[in-house]
Amino acid sequence: MNRVILIKYGELTTKKGNRKLFIDTLYKNINLKLKNLNVKINRDMSRMYIEYESIDENLILKKIKEVFGIHSFLVAYKTSSNIEDINNTIKDVLKNQINENDIYTFKVETKRSDKKFIFDSQQCNHKFGGLILKNFKNLSVNVHNPDIMVHVEIRTEFSYIYLNEYKGLGGYPVGTLGRGTLMLSGGIDSPVAGYLALKRGIKLDLVYFEAIPHTSLEARNKVIELAKKLASYGDEMRLIIIPFTKLQESIYKNVDGNYSITIMRRMMYRITEKLSKKFKSLAIINGESIGQVASQTLTSMNVINSVTNMPVIRPVACFDKLEIIDIAKKIDTYDISILPYEDCCTVFVPKHPVINPNLEKCIEMESRFDYEDLINEIMNNLLIIKINEQFEKNKYSDLL
Ligand code: ATP
Ligand code: MG
Repeated sequence: MNRVILIKYGELTTKKGNRKLFIDTLYKNINLKLKNLNVKINRDMSRMYIEYESIDENLILKKIKEVFGIHSFLVAYKTSSNIEDINNTIKDVLKNQINENDIYTFKVETKRSDKKFIFDSQQCNHKFGGLILKNFKNLSVNVHNPDIMVHVEIRTEFSYIYLNEYKGLGGYPVGTLGRGTLMLSGGIDSPVAGYLALKRGIKLDLVYFEAIPHTSLEARNKVIELAKKLASYGDEMRLIIIPFTKLQESIYKNVDGNYSITIMRRMMYRITEKLSKKFKSLAIINGESIGQVASQTLTSMNVINSVTNMPVIRPVACFDKLEIIDIAKKIDTYDISILPYEDCCTVFVPKHPVINPNLEKCIEMESRFDYEDLINEIMNNLLIIKINEQFEKNKYSDLL
């Protein structure tokens, strides 16, 4: 039998005006995701159809589960829209399925986009239901809670018969809602924040602040591994590694200890804003969560946020740590995040970071040294790596 994977679109169906952009982007994203797999993808305004060599089916299904903008997907059996062919396909599909599982009841649901087809949907349900009852003596109809749904979609040229439907990732296709800059540390929260932003259709650039030799190359590699995971949901991404050591050391030399984290984070925001402008990104995204640490009280967020006018999006702001961990496990970043390498934030943590910082004090402390010069130096010494899910570290070790 001729199998195809049928994809139903997600939330994009509600965005009437942008529908074409969303479908085109989803089409591009799926093509990219399945490149080298020898597939042929057709699309219309309500569905996408993937034709493929059957040996690749499981791999294709696995990859489709990582694409945002898909409401649901399924393996359908394709036949001509001739009634005899449809009848035969229904029988073949059910024969296979019933042999494998405990199935006693069914319901037929027909969708008929070819309005010229000889029967209307209701008549089709009766005809196909009758056919199944006649050929499968153990089966009976249950319209409320059937063991199996038999879906028949009748289109002009071809029809599709399918049984099970799988849930897709939902969200919007990545790239339909512009570009954002994710502050990616090696922690648990920021990869989750990145995943949630991708889900909203935002394409990401990733920035990572490192303070070698206070932080290690293992810490950087950990961020690269996290970036690879994010890239599996959103194609190739730019990872910008920011040499933060000199600026960070100056902060610790010049500002009062309890303000060092606040000032450090103001610097991170300033640099992330500059990078966002450089790469035409429209928002800063990070893994801050209200109340998690001293720099994430609302007062701290105000004082830190005041260095930029760009929108700062904090997808996990209102999540409990346990809720964030649940997502991290689901998207397979948790085990990487809990590896023990120190981040630039943890290396320099003061004993008593200020919980309610004062903006004037920050400004006064920042006037004690020429941070703009240091930021310019940083901007001239960025290391930019393009990362996709197949990224190999040994290739990039030449860059070190
Ligand atoms: P995470 O929050 O990802 O678990 P963390 O707990 O080490 O990591 P926090 O101190 O909570 O980080 O910092 C809040 C947010 O600031 C992070 O979620 C991340 O978005 C950003 N951030 C912190 N450190 C870095 C870094 N070294 N490079 C890039 N972004 C960072
Ligand atoms: Mg955190």
